[in-house]
This record gives sequence, C-alpha cells and structure tokens, in this order.
Amino acid sequence: MENDAVGGNLQDHLAMTYSYKSRQRTLNNELRPLSGRLRAGLRYIATRRGPMSLSVNQCGGFVRSQPQAAKPDLQLYFNPITYSSVGSGATRHYEIDPFPGFILCFQPCRPTSRGRIDLRSADPEAPPQIDPNYMATVEDAAKAIAGGRLIQRIEATRSFRALIDEPLPPALAQLTDEAILEDFRNRASTCYHPTSTCRMGRQPGEAVVDGNLLVFGIDGLRVVDASVFPAVTSGNTNAPTIMVAEKASELILRRAANG
Ligand SMILES: Cc1cc2nc3c(=O)[nH]c(=O)nc-3n(C[C@H](O)[C@H](O)[C@H](O)COP(=O)(O)OP(=O)(O)OC[C@H]3O[C@@H](n4cnc5c(N)ncnc54)[C@H](O)[C@@H]3O)c2cc1C
Repeated sequence: MENDAVGGNLQDHLAMTYSYKSRQRTLNNELRPLSGRLRAGLRYIATRRGPMSLSVNQCGGFVRSQPQAAKPDLQLYFNPITYSSVGSGATRHYEIDPFPGFILCFQPCRPTSRGRIDLRSADPEAPPQIDPNYMATVEDAAKAIAGGRLIQRIEATRSFRALIDEPLPPALAQLTDEAILEDFRNRASTCYHPTSTCRMGRQPGEAVVDGNLLVFGIDGLRVVDASVFPAVTSGNTNAPTIMVAEKASELILRRAANG
C-alpha cells in the first residue's frame, strides 16, 4: 500500500540566539582558560558539582510573544556563556569568547512549516533526502519577528541594562522587522527536534500509524519514536518520546498477555 504520509509532515524547532558582552563575570571567564576547564572537570569528578554538572541552558521558560497570544508561543533560554565559530572546513570548531558574555535565545513553539524526508534510492546505505522546508509560512515569519522584538524588550529591562556591556552584532534595537527576519533566516538553527514523519492519526494518507502505533497496511509493525508525534510538541522532545515508548511497552505487553 502506498502512503504519502510516510516521510511527510516533518517539523522541527528553530532557535535564534543573541549574544552580549557582560559587565559581570560569566562562565567565559571560568571555562575559556584550559586550566579553568581542567578545574571544572576535576571538580565534577570529585564532587559532581560546578558548571559541568549543569545544562548549558541554565534558565528558561515559556512566554507569550504578545499579550494577545492565546497561549505561550515562545520558549526562552538563557546561557551564561558565549562562543564563536573558528576556522573553516574540517577544522571548524567553537571557542569560548575571551570576554565575559551571555546569550538570550528564543524558539517558536509551534512552527507551521512542513518538510519531508524521502529515500534517495533503494540502497539502504544511501543517505536520505531531507527537505526541512523551514520558514515557509507567513505565521513562522511573524513568530521570528515577534521573538526578536520580545528579546529586545527583555534587553531593555532595568536588570538587563545593568548587566549588558554591549550587544554583539547585530544589535536588535537597530534592526527593522525585515532585518530581524532576514537575520533569523540566516542564523537560526535546529534545536534537534525533528518529528512527525510517521505521524499518528486515524487513516492512511494523513497518517502512518494508528493510535496503537501500528503501521497502516503492515500487520504487527509498530513505530515507537518521535516520528509518531501528530505535531511537534511545544517544548523539548526527549521526555515526550520517553512517554511514547512507555505507552508502547504497555500496548505490546497487553497484546502479548491477551495472546
Ligand atoms: C544534539 C542534540 C541535543 C538535544 N537536546 C535535547 C534536550 O536538551 N532536551 C530534549 O528534550 N531533547 C533534546 N534533543 C532531542 C531528543 O534527543 C530527541 O527528540 C529524542 O532523542 C528522539 O528520540 P527517538 O527515539 O525518536 O530518536 P533517537 O533518540 O535518535 O533514537 C534512534 C535510535 O535508533 C538507532 N538507529 C538508527 N538507525 C538504526 C538502524 N538502521 N538500525 C538500528 N538502530 C538504528 C540509533 O542508534 C538510536 O539509538 C536533542 C537532540 C540532539 C541531537
């Protein structure tokens, strides 16, 4: 049975970062020198504490980009560290910046653009063809601009004004809406949350698996991973994937018990 939904409906979160030189010390001061990284590593081994015991996203939340938004539509991240890409090609890598700095970052929660993943050939070793089709809708463009403007409002609060020495280019306050959108298209990158290419639903054509995670048209085959999400979750995808796996193990055990 042919089913166009296989590989369709690809969704992902894009994140956009804005970096700032800080008036206060940040992890850059601690982790840029090799001696600091060694100290942090040893501290983690000895005490399980310090910067190595924490996520790089030390603070975050879900917010409405505008008061009239029906529900929170942006996820925020705050990282007390900045880094820059150094070198090119195979030697390209990231280095922590030589000044105190921090990052404000946002991710639109519910992207409306849809991409695809397809086989390129019948060779199982051949890489697939992936078309993420990011930022293809007016709604996604509007969310990118709203996110930039929200970060600009956060920058302008008294607490952040006291903390910010200067923004690293581009400075949001100098950007038009069009420039914010162009910058988003150039710099935003995946949050590694691709989902929904084997989405769960009621019938083939719109979906690949049913509510029991069984593939339409193939007896006894289940898909159990982030690809069955009907839509990408509004936040991170790891815990929801574990929930799908726990539900699947229940379904499989129940079927085994019933013979
Ligand atoms: C760099 C990175 C950072 C992330 N950070 C976060 C985060 O902070 N919070 C969060 O919630 N989510 C995060 N995610 C997303 C999260 O990890 C994924 O959404 C989640 O792991 C998806 O689970 P999955 O089972 O669908 O796929 P995976 O976890 O990718 O599992 C697929 C498995 O299939 C195996 N496999 C692949 N091909 C074959 C094959 N041919 N035969 C047999 N086995 C095969 C792979 O080895 C792998 O074990 C991050 C992802 C990445 C890549």
